[in-house]
Amino acid sequence: MPNTQARQAIRHLCLILGDQLNRDSLLFEGFDPQKDRLWMAEVMEESTHVPSNKQRSVLFLAAMRHFAQSLRDEGLPLDYLSLDTSDLSPNEGKATINSAHQSLTSALAHSLQQYQVQSLKLVLPGDYRVLQSLKHYCADRQLPLELLADNHFIAKPGEFSAWQKGKKQWRMEYWYRQLRKRTGILMRGDQPEGGDWNYDKDNRGTFSSQGPGLLDEALLFVADEITQSAISTVTRLLPDNPGNLMSFGWPVKRQQALQLLEFFIAKQLPLFGEYQDAMWTNEPWLYHSRLSAALNLKLLSPLEVIQAAEQAYAQGKAPLNAVEGFIRQILGWREFVRGLYWSLMPDWHSMNALDARHNLPDFYWTGQVDMRCLAQSIQQVLDHGYGHHIQRLMVTGLFAQLWQTQPHQIHAWYLAMYVDAVEWVELPNVLGMSQYADGGIMASKPYIATGRYVAKMSNYCAGCRYKPDEAETDNACPFTTLYWEFLATHRARFANHPRLALQVKHLDNHNAEKRAAIAKRAQWVREHYSATNYLANHQT
Ligand code: FAD
Ligand code: SF4
Repeated sequence: MPNTQARQAIRHLCLILGDQLNRDSLLFEGFDPQKDRLWMAEVMEESTHVPSNKQRSVLFLAAMRHFAQSLRDEGLPLDYLSLDTSDLSPNEGKATINSAHQSLTSALAHSLQQYQVQSLKLVLPGDYRVLQSLKHYCADRQLPLELLADNHFIAKPGEFSAWQKGKKQWRMEYWYRQLRKRTGILMRGDQPEGGDWNYDKDNRGTFSSQGPGLLDEALLFVADEITQSAISTVTRLLPDNPGNLMSFGWPVKRQQALQLLEFFIAKQLPLFGEYQDAMWTNEPWLYHSRLSAALNLKLLSPLEVIQAAEQAYAQGKAPLNAVEGFIRQILGWREFVRGLYWSLMPDWHSMNALDARHNLPDFYWTGQVDMRCLAQSIQQVLDHGYGHHIQRLMVTGLFAQLWQTQPHQIHAWYLAMYVDAVEWVELPNVLGMSQYADGGIMASKPYIATGRYVAKMSNYCAGCRYKPDEAETDNACPFTTLYWEFLATHRARFANHPRLALQVKHLDNHNAEKRAAIAKRAQWVREHYSATNYLANHQT
């Protein structure tokens, strides 16, 4: 049947992706409501290409729906494809969504039937996969695609690649210093505030046996009607995805994100530095800001967050070690991982420098595990989609590393489980910093440790059936056993490594009897935890 309906002529169809919810984006520059249209779509693929935690899916849908509402309130022309208006069709007893809502490109194809479009416009996506699929889609149809720079970030387009040129190694610390000098953040003239660039030495505090004491109650937001609608969508369409929605308190609009920033600066920033690395049973947030999701959705700009912290320092409300430590995470790490992501993709995705071959243990998806540190850290992710940096690096990340997990499996887990997971920031942290899958491009050494590290930084071990100091006994901590196994496996590689040689020396001091006992215990550990490629078997 020929399409007899005339298609509406449009100059630019302007795409807004789920993590591009900033009204000051370059997409709106020169936007003409008479000639252009905004376009947003909720698509299943974003919750199923890895089985997204329900908390994460609700966050994205709720934030997109709020942003769409604010655009409509401004009177801007917007097409919004909601999963709620999609038809469900029964398929082998399961409801499946119609094809228009399966993927970004199928949703686009559906919309483009109505329009005669001169070009598609969008800000550079945060995910290489999305960029490629849009590029291919447009190339196949000879549809011009205009990619705009992402003005959310502090680094200017091209600044990171210019900095990389001629350097043998790319280390966050030097990139961070360059950005501080260029922006004047925490600078006195050309010198760093306080005389040092980095106050990490003051940021390794642990709690006494009494724990953190009474903490301010976390600022959690009550779900309004729009967020409730997102909760129902996820409950209806993604019942088998991991995570739960017993509570949901994430900021889903700019006004809430600003409230959370204010709360953090007033209540948590002063002690953020000192207890940045500490962990405590049933205390998921401690002094961490919980701002990553709002930042990654672009409800907040990194510069405004940094300026709020800098102002607290200038007003004497927070000490320098806390303020510098916090600003380094955002100005240093966050900008660094983004630069590295775009300079190393797509190769980074498939790197496996340590030839890690094991399946990720199944308990990562369920939290059902007898190691207390992991049970706590994973249950918290299932409940809230959150873990702070040290839980991610030195509990879930460390165990996956010592288990010698296939990097793409642990990458999929992190991408699926955390509310702030967008690939440009997740992948470098997982494959680079936590798993050393790139052989040292991002981190100067693998972050490996025995259970003693967890014992020092938390109270998890106190209630655990295992003993962090023991490697080969019946009570041996699996971290400690697998630490020695890891070193033995990679002995040749790390024997002369400047930062690991000492650890290899300790390994060499083990006599044959101890080595055999550790190897036997390692075998027990591997048999005790099932690792069946759970994701492949449970893919929704
Ligand atoms: P805070 O501790 O309050 O820190 C302040 C802010 O600094 C964060 O909100 C975040 O925007 C930024 N930040 C801190 N560390 C990093 C870092 N290493 N890289 C980039 N930004 C940083 N962060 C994500 O945003 N998304 C992810 O998917 C993600 N995956 C991670 C996976 C692993 C294995 C590791 C080790 C880290 C990961 N991080 C990720 C970084 C960091 O753990 C989170 O940003 C932080 O825990 C978020 O909690 P918060 O907002 O309370 O952070
Ligand atoms: Fe984790 Fe080992 Fe401590 Fe148990 S003893 S909580 S497994 S580090």
